[in-house]
Amino acid sequence: MDYQEVKRNIQNEFLLAKCIFGGLPLGIGSLMIISSPVEKSTSSELLVFGACAATFGLYWIRKLSGRLRERLALYDLLEKKTYAWYRSAHPESAQAGRVSCHQCGSRKINVRGLGSHTYHCQHKCVECGHTLFYSPELSA
Ligand SMILES: [Zn+2]
Repeated sequence: MDYQEVKRNIQNEFLLAKCIFGGLPLGIGSLMIISSPVEKSTSSELLVFGACAATFGLYWIRKLSGRLRERLALYDLLEKKTYAWYRSAHPESAQAGRVSCHQCGSRKINVRGLGSHTYHCQHKCVECGHTLFYSPELSA
């Protein structure tokens, strides 16, 4: 799996989402605020709608930025914490193809799909709940 390409794609998807859900309402809202005539009584509606749209846009820009950081951090983790990494970091816990938990020594390791289109599995100790490493899902 090419993690750099996956991360680039995620960044592009979020940039598009930020433009549509954030930039568009923020831009339209700002225009409404700027173009509302100060002295007319009807201007307050334009101002209120504009402020709502701009706030909505800012909210989504902030929210999507946070989600993007989380996604990228997750892929950093998936890229780093592989079986090869686990074997070199804890050689005593990965001998002759037998994996055990380096925290508690248990050999009961649960493998479950991470979901959310990550196509990765999490290898987790059943006894203490520690995550040992991640692996790409085997494609059929
Ligand atoms: Zn454990």
